[in-house]
Amino acid sequence: MIQLKTAHELEAMRKACAISAQALKLAGQSIEAGITTAELDEIVFRFIKKQGAKPGFKGLYGFPGSACISVNDTVIHGLPSRKAVIRPGDIVSIDTGAVYGGFNGDNACTFACGRVDSEAQRLMDVTREALHRGIAAAKAGSRVGDISFAVQSYVEQNGFSVVRSYVGHGVGREMHEDPEVPNFGHAGHGPRLVGGMTIAIEPMVNQKHYSVKTLSDGWTVKTADGGLSAHFEHTVAITAAGPQILTLDWEE
Ligand code: MG
Repeated sequence: MIQLKTAHELEAMRKACAISAQALKLAGQSIEAGITTAELDEIVFRFIKKQGAKPGFKGLYGFPGSACISVNDTVIHGLPSRKAVIRPGDIVSIDTGAVYGGFNGDNACTFACGRVDSEAQRLMDVTREALHRGIAAAKAGSRVGDISFAVQSYVEQNGFSVVRSYVGHGVGREMHEDPEVPNFGHAGHGPRLVGGMTIAIEPMVNQKHYSVKTLSDGWTVKTADGGLSAHFEHTVAITAAGPQILTLDWEE
């Protein structure tokens, strides 16, 4: 069931989203050659706790970290590890969530460690633009499929592929609520978007084929063909005045 938020609830959610976004920004600024993904996770954990909030992913379905940190060919759900050292030229997807005042914020960004090759940069640029095209399509009265189509068509025009096995989602009192928000699909289809809905739009875009595999740790999702992958996500409120990004802080 889709949970609509009142104006009052939206205000509470803004705070959770701001904390999540500031944690993401801080993690991105902390990326440098030689840092481990466990250290980045620790930075996220400490920041969120300092705000009086809770890391939204820690313990969610048993996930051990405060952030999912997914490097190069890892698509999502990368486990923070002391063995995973960031190297120059890596692309590092970080997904952070925060719980504050009973509400969740959820967002992700792929950051570069130093200079990355032009194809990696193009993959990141296309994924970020696909996210914003998806957000622009998230108007009250439109349908979820309008978001899906906006994302997929832009990604495929640019020669990349959208992951099918994982999708965006409603977000609010729970990190994952209805509806599902796929990054592929047909305009004019799916649940109607109405004011008070809050959704996480999160294109996961692969350099080559969209198929993925999960490693034996039960979490790490990689591209099946070893190509790179990028992931950008915002929590967005559907309002009569248009879509509002609640997790903007990391882009500013
Ligand atoms: Mg999400």
